[in-house]
Amino acid sequence: MKLKIKLGDITKVKAAAIVNAANNSLLGGGGVDGTIHRIAGPELLAECRSLGGCETGKAKITKGYNLPADYVIHTVGPVWQGGNHQEIELLASCYVNSLTLAEEYHCKQVAFPSISTGIYHFPIEKAAEIAVSAILNYGENHPEIQLVEMICFDETTKKHFDQALKKYLNGT
Ligand code: ADP
Repeated sequence: MKLKIKLGDITKVKAAAIVNAANNSLLGGGGVDGTIHRIAGPELLAECRSLGGCETGKAKITKGYNLPADYVIHTVGPVWQGGNHQEIELLASCYVNSLTLAEEYHCKQVAFPSISTGIYHFPIEKAAEIAVSAILNYGENHPEIQLVEMICFDETTKKHFDQALKKYLNGT
């Protein structure tokens, strides 16, 4: 598996699957979730309504409708509450469960936004390290997913992901 860190808007990415940083209702919200629903169109919301929500750390899949991506994987990141509420394990689960679903649907490329680091306030430095290690550890045993792209919406997020990748590769 190859992991690329890019600056961009995930709603423009033509991957087999893009991941949405959703909330428990799966009925849309602010941030990247709002943009994904706006571009995908009302059919996405209709499909999401049939899913019965999603637990924190888990993931559910829908079609991509008007998005360039074939599928949207909706995962619910933890709200940061200081770090003693299983936030770390739950954030890692978001990445692992999203990749597991992508693989089940034979998606060879998957694009992620930085889950939980917007409205959910997870500290970016920690979140980037958790994301990079969850993705690359998964990739070691699952060669079916060839490319994972982290789509960072701003320079600061990208800087932290670049650093986290470097740190992971250096084994520090
Ligand atoms: P959460 O509620 O999980 O924190 P947010 O959507 O508030 O989710 O933020 C998660 C990350 O997604 C933030 O870094 C935010 O800047 C970023 N983001 C917002 N819009 C987009 C977009 N169109 N493409 C990629 N990332 C985005």
